[in-house]
Amino acid sequence: MIEMAIEMNRCGINQGTSGNLSVRQESGMLITPSGMTYSTLAPDDIVFVDGNGEHHGPRKPSSEWRIHHDIYQARADAAAILHAHPTDCAALACLNEPIPAFHYMVAVAGGRNIRCAPYATFGTQALSNNVLDALQDRKACLMANHGLICLAGNLDQALALAIEVEQLAQTYVHCLSVGSPVILDDEEMDRVLLKFKSYGVQDGYPIPPPPSITLL
Ligand SMILES: [Zn+2]
Repeated sequence: MIEMAIEMNRCGINQGTSGNLSVRQESGMLITPSGMTYSTLAPDDIVFVDGNGEHHGPRKPSSEWRIHHDIYQARADAAAILHAHPTDCAALACLNEPIPAFHYMVAVAGGRNIRCAPYATFGTQALSNNVLDALQDRKACLMANHGLICLAGNLDQALALAIEVEQLAQTYVHCLSVGSPVILDDEEMDRVLLKFKSYGVQDGYPIPPPPSITLL
């Protein structure tokens, strides 16, 4: 988890300590601590939060622990979660804009678009509820005036998905700066989603993670 947190910043999808990541455990989850520089983390700094939302050990969990906790409760397909503030995802999130089907790879998040969860104050139950709604049938969503959250089968896949969504956000922002991108229709996106389910699937993720991030 520490290697992956450092990698999250190294590859540019997060800055400082604003992001966080977690891994599901049998009776709860392990999550990065609140406000600690990743490069200084030792294994004991990673926080165990049990199924009742109580944390154990010397460190406080990330301020967004509640979202991670609620996603694991609601989504059997989530074994790892990554939250970050990548620049172009955050830019779109500050416009309160979803990422529409301007590119077929939008289907990588599991649907015809990548939604933007309505704004609520960080760390609140209201924000967690908004994120869970926006993640319905999806593995990623933007968070209004905030950032991005992804769920996956493991941390490698979660980081690969976050990189992919940030790449899409960057391309979409480029498109908006020079015109209005053509949006693929629902029929075409459904065709793409079907192909993703049957073609080259790697544990539920349609493309293998880049070699540079196969740390775990
Ligand atoms: Zn955040």
